[in-house]
Amino acid sequence: MALVVQKYGGTSVGDADRIRSVASRVVGAAADGNQVVVVVSAMGSFTDELIGLAQQVSSHPAPRELDMLLTAGERISMSLLAMAIHDLGAEVLSLTGSQAGILTDSSHGEARITRIRGDRVREHLDQGKIVIVAGFQGVDPDSRDVTTLGRGGSDATAVAMAAALDADACEIFTDVDGVYTADPRVVPDARLLKEVSYEDMLELAASGTGVLMMRSVEFARRFGVALHVRSSFHEQPGTWVKESAMEEAIITGIAHDVSESKLTVHGVPDQPGVAARLFGNLADAGINVDMIVQNVSMEGVTDISFTVPKNDNAAALAICERLVPEFRAGGVDADPNIARVSVVGAGMRSNPGIAATMFRALGDRAINIHMISTSSIRISCVITADRVEEAVRTLHEELVPLDEPVEEHA
Ligand code: ASP
Ligand code: MG
Repeated sequence: MALVVQKYGGTSVGDADRIRSVASRVVGAAADGNQVVVVVSAMGSFTDELIGLAQQVSSHPAPRELDMLLTAGERISMSLLAMAIHDLGAEVLSLTGSQAGILTDSSHGEARITRIRGDRVREHLDQGKIVIVAGFQGVDPDSRDVTTLGRGGSDATAVAMAAALDADACEIFTDVDGVYTADPRVVPDARLLKEVSYEDMLELAASGTGVLMMRSVEFARRFGVALHVRSSFHEQPGTWVKESAMEEAIITGIAHDVSESKLTVHGVPDQPGVAARLFGNLADAGINVDMIVQNVSMEGVTDISFTVPKNDNAAALAICERLVPEFRAGGVDADPNIARVSVVGAGMRSNPGIAATMFRALGDRAINIHMISTSSIRISCVITADRVEEAVRTLHEELVPLDEPVEEHA
């Protein structure tokens, strides 16, 4: 008997009709002879609504209480789904993350899974039941408080459950057909990828491709869990995320991200220790810095630019304003109207010239590049936000092969 873990995202359980249709898909998988564990997200944008409510009653919601509140979202969808499955005549029960034995560290709002005690889930599976687990949540065994795993964390729950139970398949059901060579809302002829490697998927997720939570991909890679990302609206196969993908195009896809803001500290004296203090202060405030560029110094001073999530823009700016006089720097400014566009593909390791092609394609359109950063399989450029869609379309046209590599017919 195969064991499958199926995860359904917020849109897939967005209303009563959707929940009933998920119920029949789940019951279908069980009727095919599988043991089935289902992980659910909160309905629709319910998590956002709960965060909104918290912000209405408190300027800084207490992290423990915010997690208490947010975990309620998944409790609602898991119990509703269990009711719908019941009505179809199958044996089922729902469990919170804590009941399912998902143990985490203590960092509220972004807890990491440290261990899964799978015995309770296994027991119910062995009794022939479908088990539904609330996504995005766990419990810190020391404080016994519930925790959440960060936005999009139900993906991490699903992957961790699949690893702990040694599942045969981990299916991530979502409202898109899979992973595309670019966001199909921006590039109408973007192509659905049949397979993508963990390595490429990690870079795509880190660069703004929102289909999978980045940490869940790390987890999948670490534990060798192959993921099938597919639509909950039809039966067509989606994208497999696994160790190495068969199609070896040089470029796998173009990602873009408009969620960041850029800060520049000008006229910083070029002395050892300055960057350490700047980024140390930002880290102490819990601000996640992404791209960093320091200019070549001229006459003993330099500029340091970096990007942060837009939500952290004000806090980062305040820290820089405090440090400018201490550093005897020139000043600081923040630009929230930026976007990051990235070209991703492991094939660029062995194919020189991708960067040149990317910069030329942007240059030909007079799209100015503010910052550049690279990894061995990614090149990212920061540009102004209002040119981002044009940039993605241009780069897709220039760098992504139109069709799948076609096999020769004999
Ligand atoms: N409901 C949570 C969120 O919106 C977790 C998830 O959807 O995966 O972030
Ligand atoms: Mg999600």
